Amino acid sequence: MDSKAPDNLQDLHYFGEYGGVNPSISDSSTYTFLSAKTMFDTFEGNTEGCYLYSRHSSPSNLYLGEALAALEGTETANVTASGMGAITAVILQLCEAGDHIVSSRTIYGGTYAFMKNFLKKFNIGVSFVDITKTSAVAKAITPITKMIYCESVSNPLLEIADLESLSGLAKNHHIPLVVDNTFSPLSISPVNFGADIVIHSLTKFINGTSDCVAGAVCGTKEFCLSLKDVNNGAGMLLGSTLDSLRAASILKNMRTLHLRIKKHSENALYLAENLEKDGLKVVYPGLKSHPGHEVMKKQYNAEFGYGGIMTLDAGSLKNANALMELMQKRHLGYLAVSLGFYKTLFSAPGSSTSSEIPLEEQKEMGLSDGLIRFSIGLDNDISRTYTAIKTCMLQLEILKSNDKTHLNKI
Ligand SMILES: *Cc1c(COP(=O)(O)O)cnc(C)c1O
Repeated sequence: MDSKAPDNLQDLHYFGEYGGVNPSISDSSTYTFLSAKTMFDTFEGNTEGCYLYSRHSSPSNLYLGEALAALEGTETANVTASGMGAITAVILQLCEAGDHIVSSRTIYGGTYAFMKNFLKKFNIGVSFVDITKTSAVAKAITPITKMIYCESVSNPLLEIADLESLSGLAKNHHIPLVVDNTFSPLSISPVNFGADIVIHSLTKFINGTSDCVAGAVCGTKEFCLSLKDVNNGAGMLLGSTLDSLRAASILKNMRTLHLRIKKHSENALYLAENLEKDGLKVVYPGLKSHPGHEVMKKQYNAEFGYGGIMTLDAGSLKNANALMELMQKRHLGYLAVSLGFYKTLFSAPGSSTSSEIPLEEQKEMGLSDGLIRFSIGLDNDISRTYTAIKTCMLQLEILKSNDKTHLNKI
């Protein structure tokens, strides 16, 4: 289904104090009030449009927040100093000590560690389930469950959550569906399928220049205001505040997000299709062989494609490491964690970004140690990149071991 594309972002117009084409950057931590009464009311949360202190809100952060709300089609959004700052604030806002969460078992390593280890301090239990099996999710929900948590496209296995059936389930139980959409901005609009809260690590595609760390929570006005509450707001009190200068620079980068996502997707699809044809084990939601391909097609915004992340199983960690080093030598990309950069980034999640997940559990969820995660870059000529990647593989004889007949043809 080609649902309504999230084009609202194109229609936002903010001007600077002197008519500048970009909004002015707020360069203050604190704000003056003409009357003492207004200051009191602002503290109590009764005056909209007044700024009190920049940990609470600032004009630059509000501009970026409104752009993210437009991107995700939510009433509003709060920005945070990192993706983890957004995730932890949402979880601690929605859960009391003793509560329970049902979460996908394939999620970002930091989120997994927070849920599995840190939440023990609050006696908050988490059931990790196979998110592609709605019946398993349903089974795990108990009377004390406070949310269903998932990533629309999961890290690093690229499992696709069926947001429509998950949100139906959440609604039946009167709990929110919280979706981390970091891997698929523009490609997937979780709110169109009933998600209640959408989280982003802006560090990745949305900023796209790998020069800062930031995050966002997109949701209702009521929920976003509750996060900022001076007495009880996890956003306000945990203090993960984005700096105004960074908020302004991320907003400017967001202006090209639609172009970048299209190119990331186009390049990733080209590589995935061709490497799969060569007999390699490639996982990419745009491939028919991907178990979540049909769900992805049902919920993606076709013009933005299947996203920029793909994985390739090099067979062993040794192979994976050697291949990554070779590719880096040939300037095909960088051996680095993170994603959404103009250059291709690759890493072996089993020993890096998902190393928080115990080896046994990695195996159980299908995370093999030879898995390489690629964040495909904005290469102008992706066929040249493909040829170069193949040359690296031949050098390592990975192609040979995968498909001897193919090697004979070359
Ligand atoms: C990187 C990432 C995060 C964490 O974001 P930070 O900005 O590094 O705190 C959360 N979720 C996903 C899917 C990510 O890729």
